Amino acid sequence: MAPARSKTSRLHVAVIGAGAAGLVAARELRRENHSVVVFERNTQVGGLWVYTPDSEPDPLSLDPNRTIVHSSVYDSLRTNLPRECMGYRDFPFVPRPEDDESRDPRRYPSHREVLAYLEDFARKFKLEEMVRFETEVVLVELEEKKWRIQFRNSVGISGDEIFDAVVVSNGHYTEPRVAYVPGIDSWPGKQVHSHNYRVPDPFNDQVVVVIGNFASGSDISRDITRVAKEVHIASRSNPSETYEKLPGSNNLWLHSMIESAHEDGSIVFKNGKVVQADTIVHCTGYKYHFPFLNTNGYLTVEDNCVGPLYKHVFLPALAPGLSFIGLPWMTLQFFMFELQSKWVAAVLSGQVSLPSEEKMMEDVTAFYAKRDANGIPKRYTHKLGGSQVEYLNWIAEQIDAPLLEQWRAEEVEGGYRRLATQSDTFRDKWDDDHLIVEAYEDFLRQKL
Ligand code: FAD
Repeated sequence: MAPARSKTSRLHVAVIGAGAAGLVAARELRRENHSVVVFERNTQVGGLWVYTPDSEPDPLSLDPNRTIVHSSVYDSLRTNLPRECMGYRDFPFVPRPEDDESRDPRRYPSHREVLAYLEDFARKFKLEEMVRFETEVVLVELEEKKWRIQFRNSVGISGDEIFDAVVVSNGHYTEPRVAYVPGIDSWPGKQVHSHNYRVPDPFNDQVVVVIGNFASGSDISRDITRVAKEVHIASRSNPSETYEKLPGSNNLWLHSMIESAHEDGSIVFKNGKVVQADTIVHCTGYKYHFPFLNTNGYLTVEDNCVGPLYKHVFLPALAPGLSFIGLPWMTLQFFMFELQSKWVAAVLSGQVSLPSEEKMMEDVTAFYAKRDANGIPKRYTHKLGGSQVEYLNWIAEQIDAPLLEQWRAEEVEGGYRRLATQSDTFRDKWDDDHLIVEAYEDFLRQKL
């Protein structure tokens, strides 16, 4: 049941980041009549989807003082979800009559199309007028029940400003996690994290080991097969005897995880196979990272668990002044950003109320206990996957929004299945045309 709606108040709210999460947060906050400033350190909206051929000088991005390149998008990237279910609910990600020939109408379009969609979204809802571009937030801290934000612009000029509330939407695909490989310190080859992968050319004629076989690992290994001599995927989720040649190319093998790396350049897998490799590409994910945030210890990030957070959004001790949009993964990202944003905006205006701090903490404690009892590692705290429908519908109920459409739930389910079972063809072959029809009928009905 949706919590009671009451009086409304207008707050001065800061949003950090103008990616897919920050843009919709800004829209929903303004719709609830708040005054909004979006801080964006880049020169344009779109966040992760702003592709750049540049990568960081440190290929594993381990140096904390390195120059940060935000985007992790590679040149060949196409979406890993069908576009109908990927967009915001009230601004579907579908080809429009006004699109020119530069647009990509495919069901799983290129990253350029996602950026164009986000730019269309920002234009349609006049969001850029709220954004301070080339302005990086360097500190967020509490000051007498308000929030002081310190920022720095591209020419080094700093300033600060007081806000009633802060919405953090800085993305979480910029700070790499790197796999530990026994013996790696004496191994003479090169290593790079997928965050710094752009094109396959540097791997010409090489033997390459890719660690990780989820979305990026699967894509990048296939991209590299076009120029490399051999590509070997090491995956810790496979049984130790795993060794198979993968379909779709003649130089790609799947193994279990790496056992060890050696001074002579060899890599030994847990299945006993040995290869002389030139480069290891770590497609091993990312860390949540909030270098600007000072909560006096209320918020911690431990083994990729950001907490304690009520429903992945509110920090109970400091709610509702500090909130996070976009932490959960393996879900319908833009759709979730939109729901979370509506919830935050309505809570801040007093339209929707939160439980007491104690009740929120009880909920978080129960959630962690269930996670632990089910043997789910801490680092998967924010992974939704099978629980996404329940989560998204719970938020929808808080704000009286319609529940997840059946076609959308089925599309995403089928999308994950195809991604896992036909990773070389899933973007161009599918068996759910009936869901596309249902989606478009739905958009038509709502005149979207
Ligand atoms: P981001 O897009 O990363 O935006 C964060 C913004 O915050 C950036 O503009 C950044 O410049 C700004 N920022 C950061 N720190 C500061 C600061 N201190 N001060 C000011 N500004 C700051 N999702 C899908 O739905 N479909 C897909 O096909 C898909 N493919 C993906 C492929 C890859 C390789 C990756 C890494 C992710 C993919 N995702 C996909 C998930 C994707 O992350 C989300 O879809 C979404 O774009 C993330 O949006 P965001 O706004 O949370 O973060």
